[in-house]
Amino acid sequence: MTTPTGTEDIQEVTVTATALATFDSLDPATGDVVGTHPIFDAAQVNETVARAREAAQWWAQLSFDERAERLKKWRGVIARRMAQLAELSHAETGKPTGDAQLEIMMMLDHLSWAAGNARKVLGRKSITPSLLAADLGASVEYLPLGVIGVIGPWNFPVFTPMGSIAYALAAGNAVVFKPSEFTPGVGKWLVDAFAQVVPEHPVLQVVTGLGETGAALCRSGVDKVAFTGSTETGKKVMRACADTLTPVLIEAGGKDVLLVDADADLDAAAEAAVWGGLSNAGQACIGTERVYVHEQVYDAFLAKLVALAKPIRAGDDPAAQLGPMTMPSQPGVVARHIADALDKGARAVVGGPDAVGARLVQPTVLVDVPEDSIAMTEETFGPTLAVNKVRDMDEAVERANNSRYGLGSAVFAKRRGVELARRIRSGMTGVNLVYLFAALPELPFGGVGDSGFGRIHGPDGLKEFTYAKSIARRRLPALMALTTFARTPKVDKLLATLTVLRHG
Ligand code: NDP
Repeated sequence: MTTPTGTEDIQEVTVTATALATFDSLDPATGDVVGTHPIFDAAQVNETVARAREAAQWWAQLSFDERAERLKKWRGVIARRMAQLAELSHAETGKPTGDAQLEIMMMLDHLSWAAGNARKVLGRKSITPSLLAADLGASVEYLPLGVIGVIGPWNFPVFTPMGSIAYALAAGNAVVFKPSEFTPGVGKWLVDAFAQVVPEHPVLQVVTGLGETGAALCRSGVDKVAFTGSTETGKKVMRACADTLTPVLIEAGGKDVLLVDADADLDAAAEAAVWGGLSNAGQACIGTERVYVHEQVYDAFLAKLVALAKPIRAGDDPAAQLGPMTMPSQPGVVARHIADALDKGARAVVGGPDAVGARLVQPTVLVDVPEDSIAMTEETFGPTLAVNKVRDMDEAVERANNSRYGLGSAVFAKRRGVELARRIRSGMTGVNLVYLFAALPELPFGGVGDSGFGRIHGPDGLKEFTYAKSIARRRLPALMALTTFARTPKVDKLLATLTVLRHG
């Protein structure tokens, strides 16, 4: 099949499908074809998974250090060709090239950490049993599941799927990756780069296609599916995986809040709200969508926010801070959210209905937004912020938690930052920052409620792609014979006495 733009330097060693059906990835700014890719049907997905299963055996028997060495080489290839990958990501998503590069840089830290820490987190460790079991020795280790299916999104086509791929590979699994139909070239680029440093077996493969290809991957008998995307599609993935009892990790959307307390640094809070809400044209699962501000500082904060948001511009020229919306359908969603909020009594202090063009969406800041409007209840995934005044931070926390989502959040406060952060029902919270919890490889990333479950990143992210293997072994002759039909009434009596002494 044809090679996507920007991958010329990457040797093509992946197995390509024999399908006749293809689809194009398009530049959202121009409509130009960026690349043409095969649509993998169910049979081809199954064949790919079968190849992955063989590769998984080879990969799993390598030592942690041998895998780490190869993953670090992959990191090197990606780092050296970062400009090429960033250009391709820019072409497929529309995001500014600098933002695409930032995403790649953050991902490389994760790849490095996963490779470097897998042995420490997952390797075999001895357990010392309690005194009463002193005749036994024990150990626990975390073994790879086998083949992981990764279904990726288009909004951060490098960083987000690699949060699963890098950790699954470091844990000793093979991976079959289904990138979004909007960013297949980026997915293929990553896989081709991997095949350059691990040419022996197809440990990481790509299956391109539309939603049906993802659905086929769920039914293919992989050992786990790691999905990132909408809550609704996440439910479909779970349903498909239920038939084969395939475990799933769901990283779905969010409706992240940012709280501003009376003692907050308002310049920093406004800057963070603007970046959190507008960067990547708002197409981020941990994008800020709702802002609750203490009434004492509401007016001052809003003035700063408006001043910062007004000059931000979406365009398809290099100077624009925001690119076009990646999905053609997304401007319609954003327009619906803005219209509903205004109908219900909100006011637009930046942007408004006219901000939404066919593909370019300019920033919108809404205030006094009724809590039951869809701009407050559903994921907008556009460059909009809804800002409401609260009487105190208790009310802010209550409103923050009045959401079916719980992915990320942020608190701006001097005195009570961590206390408020701990009260917000979300997987991650930044205190006096947005986004950066995702950049720390040591920290697990994931949500609660409709934002999904399971964790990528950090030790939890490594363990997510393994199963715990426990071994207990006899070290010394048994102190008391318990697991025998020859157990005597005397032993039973002694046991009863010991149980009362220990637990009674
Ligand atoms: P989807 O959830 O539909 O797509 C996410 C991934 O799932 C894509 O790779 C998609 O493939 C794949 N997929 C689609 N249908 C199935 C299926 N039945 N079984 C298995 N995999 C499937 O999201 P969209 O891209 O359509 O975006 C819709 C909304 O989802 C956005 O507006 C946003 O609100 C939210 N979203 C959230 C993301 C996040 O980071 N949490 C990321 C992306 C979207 P394909 O692209 O080929 O259809």
